[in-house]
Amino acid sequence: MVIMITDATATITEVNDTFSQITGYTAEYVLGKNPKILQSGRHPPAFFAKMWEALLAQGYWRGEIWNRRKNGDVYPEILTISAVKNAEGKVQHYVSLSTDITSMKAYQGQLEHIAHYDVLTNLPNRVLLADRLSQAMAYCQSHKQSLAVAFMDLDRFKEINDSYGHAVGDKLLIALSQRMKDALREGDTLARIGGDEFIAIMVDLQNTKLSSAILERLLKATSDPVMVDGAIIRVSASIGVTFYPQDNSDADHLMRHADQAMYSAKQAGKNRYRLFDVEQAYAGKIQLENIDNIRLAMERGEFLLHYQPKVNMRTGEVIGTEALIRWQHPKSGLIPSLDFLPVIEGQPLSLELGEWVIDTALNQISDWQNIGICFPISVNISAYQLQQDNFVSRLKALLASYPEVGPPFLELEILETSALHDINQVSSTMNECHKLGVRFALDDFGTGYSSLTHVRRLPAQLIKIDQTFVRDMLEDAGDLAIVKGVIGLAQAFECEVIAEGVETIAHGQALLKLGCELAQGYGIARPMSASKIPEWVSTWKTDDPWKGM
Ligand code: C2E
Ligand code: MG
Ligand code: MG
Repeated sequence: MVIMITDATATITEVNDTFSQITGYTAEYVLGKNPKILQSGRHPPAFFAKMWEALLAQGYWRGEIWNRRKNGDVYPEILTISAVKNAEGKVQHYVSLSTDITSMKAYQGQLEHIAHYDVLTNLPNRVLLADRLSQAMAYCQSHKQSLAVAFMDLDRFKEINDSYGHAVGDKLLIALSQRMKDALREGDTLARIGGDEFIAIMVDLQNTKLSSAILERLLKATSDPVMVDGAIIRVSASIGVTFYPQDNSDADHLMRHADQAMYSAKQAGKNRYRLFDVEQAYAGKIQLENIDNIRLAMERGEFLLHYQPKVNMRTGEVIGTEALIRWQHPKSGLIPSLDFLPVIEGQPLSLELGEWVIDTALNQISDWQNIGICFPISVNISAYQLQQDNFVSRLKALLASYPEVGPPFLELEILETSALHDINQVSSTMNECHKLGVRFALDDFGTGYSSLTHVRRLPAQLIKIDQTFVRDMLEDAGDLAIVKGVIGLAQAFECEVIAEGVETIAHGQALLKLGCELAQGYGIARPMSASKIPEWVSTWKTDDPWKGM
């Protein structure tokens, strides 16, 4: 912590050793001078005018500021200045406390990059692709144009990998991705979404003829021979395409439809493209889980919660459980959440169901407490629910009906942080909930396009590393880098961090080595009915290789 004290005229009277370490100026040099010597020139005069305004009016200012070290380097810091007044209310001193946040910013920049770009090819990854696609879709709507989503999967890539080795396979992917990029136009997006799978978004399409020319170019780009380490390698690609808004689906479905069409291209003999057939697809589709059925299910009490334990792998402590909703369907059996929640997403019905989940979880906490099981339950909250104006008052009412349950036993996991519109509003909602004693976690961290920037502005106590990164961290350097980065970021922001999707002992060991002790996943326990929890808790022990790591 850098400490600087000035007198009432802003003349420096005292600095600590850290001040000299961070700024490079000795105390002798700065005493008697004005703090202006630290100015970086990056802030307009209005910035300092505002700062003084706040200091004079409230006696307090806090914010982020860029300063300059003696050696000329500009660096960011978080700064708090307080006015110290005497008994008559006259300012005697200003005390400024600041922290150099250079490494925090660097983490963030690095993470932004690895979270949005594929490490091997440096093409956008799935996350950035999803963002670009929804932007392009919005543009299409307002400009009455079409776009195409092309899903490309290389033919025979596995054979190449097996016979020439991974290093050659990697070089081939790099070479082909450059060629595919060249085959597209400026403004189009090419992303790598998995091993040998790519997705291209082609924008500004007035007619389908144009797109067939580009698709032919893409086929040629992938089927022309490539020279790698002296070997001449030939592959090809199967491409599936769908057009928006002709295929009037959401971003996720557009990609799935292109994937389906890619599959028919493979079946038809590879090295070709196939268009997704909108009419055929919708004709055969029966909507089983529609809104009316879900409402009925609610009235009939067919929903229930399963609970998945969360543990500390090092100490062996069970730190809580996560509530996960299930539908006990009279005919189809137990239906997982993602098969029906998307149907009611953003609808008032989802709010009712969301409140039912909180109510049921509180009831469960109370039941467990009665038999001596005292740990929190976390409940998933959609962005839509959290952004309701009456969220806090509804939560208060629910808590009030379980006075025996202390609010610290309820934790809320915020889903789809990228769907939060008004961060200021959300963060004040969160602060109000804190006052009630409720804690927050950011779920699926790293997947939403803007989740990284959100962590700085949302007052959450816990970050959950998304399971897709955890699952592949042992094989995929990019995912490992993201996991490391998220852990570093959590440490920088003094949040706790938990890994989800811990499926094996090896995952747990790797996470412990990186300093992440909290975990949840099939390797520890699958979600189970409430009645099974007491027995599980009494028999669970942390795995030997994790102990004391
Ligand atoms: P989530 O909050 O990220 O929950 C974790 C999901 O990962 C759960 O799936 C869990 O069963 C699964 N999982 C846990 N460990 C592992 C593992 O080691 N490997 C694999 N492959 N999966 C693992 P589930 O129950 O199907 O829930 C899916 C998503 O549905 C949740 O993701 C959450 O976003 C949403 N959801 C579930 N319950 C609720 C709810 O009550 N309200 C709301 N709004 N959303 C819910
Ligand atoms: Mg969750
Ligand atoms: Mg999650």
